[in-house]
Amino acid sequence: MMDFQGKFSLPENLKILTKCPFCSANMEKLDVRLLQDMDDRQMVHIHCAACLGSMIALFLLAGPGIASIGLVTDLSFDDVVKFNKNDKIGLDDVLKTHEFLKSPRFLRRIVD
Ligand SMILES: [Zn+2]
Repeated sequence: MMDFQGKFSLPENLKILTKCPFCSANMEKLDVRLLQDMDDRQMVHIHCAACLGSMIALFLLAGPGIASIGLVTDLSFDDVVKFNKNDKIGLDDVLKTHEFLKSPRFLRRIVD
Protein backbone atom coordinates (compact mmCIF):
# COMPACT_ATOMS: atom_id res chain seq x y z
CA MET A 1 0.00 0.00 0.00
CA MET A 2 2.92 2.37 0.41
CA ASP A 3 4.97 3.45 -2.54
CA PHE A 4 8.70 4.05 -2.50
CA GLN A 5 8.30 7.57 -1.09
CA GLY A 6 6.35 6.18 1.89
CA LYS A 7 3.16 7.60 0.41
CA PHE A 8 -0.15 5.76 0.27
CA SER A 9 -1.03 4.57 -3.18
CA LEU A 10 -3.58 2.04 -4.36
CA PRO A 11 -1.73 -0.72 -6.18
CA GLU A 12 -2.78 -0.79 -9.83
CA ASN A 13 -3.26 -4.54 -9.78
CA LEU A 14 -5.45 -4.47 -6.67
CA LYS A 15 -9.01 -5.13 -7.79
CA ILE A 16 -10.91 -2.95 -5.35
CA LEU A 17 -13.44 -1.97 -7.99
CA THR A 18 -14.38 -4.72 -10.38
CA LYS A 19 -17.92 -3.64 -11.19
CA CYS A 20 -20.09 -0.53 -11.14
CA PRO A 21 -21.58 -0.21 -7.64
CA PHE A 22 -24.88 0.96 -9.21
CA CYS A 23 -25.53 -1.34 -12.17
CA SER A 24 -22.78 -4.00 -11.92
CA ALA A 25 -21.38 -3.10 -15.35
CA ASN A 26 -17.84 -4.32 -15.95
CA MET A 27 -14.81 -2.23 -14.96
CA GLU A 28 -14.29 -1.20 -18.61
CA LYS A 29 -17.41 0.99 -18.33
CA LEU A 30 -15.99 2.89 -15.34
CA ASP A 31 -14.06 6.13 -15.62
CA VAL A 32 -12.01 6.46 -12.42
CA ARG A 33 -10.13 9.72 -11.98
CA LEU A 34 -7.94 10.86 -9.10
CA LEU A 35 -9.21 13.88 -7.12
CA GLN A 36 -6.83 13.99 -4.17
CA ASP A 37 -3.71 12.07 -3.30
CA MET A 38 -2.48 12.39 0.26
CA ASP A 39 -0.04 10.44 2.40
CA ASP A 40 -2.62 8.03 3.80
CA ARG A 41 -5.58 8.33 1.42
CA GLN A 42 -6.74 8.75 -2.13
CA MET A 43 -10.01 10.29 -3.28
CA VAL A 44 -11.35 9.38 -6.69
CA HIS A 45 -14.33 10.26 -8.86
CA ILE A 46 -16.01 7.25 -10.45
CA HIS A 47 -18.39 7.57 -13.39
CA CYS A 48 -20.15 4.69 -15.11
CA ALA A 49 -20.74 5.03 -18.85
CA ALA A 50 -23.43 2.33 -18.74
CA CYS A 51 -25.83 3.80 -16.12
CA LEU A 52 -24.36 7.35 -15.92
CA GLY A 53 -24.08 7.01 -12.14
CA SER A 54 -21.27 8.81 -10.33
CA MET A 55 -19.70 8.64 -6.92
CA ILE A 56 -16.82 10.08 -4.97
CA ALA A 57 -14.86 7.40 -3.15
CA LEU A 58 -12.26 7.79 -0.45
CA PHE A 59 -9.75 4.97 0.09
CA LEU A 60 -7.63 5.19 3.21
CA LEU A 61 -5.24 3.14 5.22
CA ALA A 62 -7.00 1.56 8.21
CA GLY A 63 -4.55 -0.45 10.24
CA PRO A 64 -3.31 -3.34 8.14
CA GLY A 65 -6.03 -2.89 5.50
CA ILE A 66 -7.81 -0.35 3.37
CA ALA A 67 -11.15 1.25 4.21
CA SER A 68 -13.38 2.94 1.67
CA ILE A 69 -16.22 5.43 1.89
CA GLY A 70 -18.45 6.23 -1.09
CA LEU A 71 -20.73 9.19 -1.73
CA VAL A 72 -23.26 9.12 -4.56
CA THR A 73 -23.16 12.38 -6.54
CA ASP A 74 -24.52 13.97 -9.67
CA LEU A 75 -21.38 16.08 -10.00
CA SER A 76 -19.02 15.39 -12.88
CA PHE A 77 -15.27 15.18 -12.30
CA ASP A 78 -14.88 18.73 -13.66
CA ASP A 79 -17.65 20.00 -11.33
CA VAL A 80 -15.92 18.51 -8.29
CA VAL A 81 -12.61 20.12 -9.27
CA LYS A 82 -14.34 23.46 -9.95
CA PHE A 83 -16.30 23.55 -6.68
CA ASN A 84 -13.30 22.39 -4.68
CA LYS A 85 -11.35 25.47 -5.85
CA ASN A 86 -14.09 28.00 -5.09
CA ASP A 87 -14.04 30.04 -1.93
CA LYS A 88 -16.44 29.21 0.82
CA ILE A 89 -19.69 31.11 1.20
CA GLY A 90 -19.16 34.04 3.53
CA LEU A 91 -21.47 36.27 5.51
CA ASP A 92 -21.30 38.96 2.80
CA ASP A 93 -22.49 36.43 0.21
CA VAL A 94 -25.45 35.49 2.38
CA LEU A 95 -26.38 39.15 2.96
CA LYS A 96 -26.12 39.99 -0.76
CA THR A 97 -28.33 37.04 -1.64
CA HIS A 98 -30.86 38.01 1.01
CA GLU A 99 -30.99 41.58 -0.31
CA PHE A 100 -31.28 40.37 -3.90
CA LEU A 101 -34.17 38.05 -3.03
CA LYS A 102 -36.06 40.99 -1.49
CA SER A 103 -35.34 43.37 -4.38
CA PRO A 104 -37.95 44.34 -7.01
CA ARG A 105 -35.47 43.19 -9.68
CA PHE A 106 -35.67 39.61 -8.41
CA LEU A 107 -39.46 39.74 -8.08
CA ARG A 108 -39.76 41.02 -11.68
CA ARG A 109 -37.71 38.04 -12.87
CA ILE A 110 -40.11 35.63 -11.21
CA VAL A 111 -43.23 37.34 -12.54
CA ASP A 112 -41.95 37.82 -16.12
ZN1 LIG B 1 -23.21 1.63 -13.78
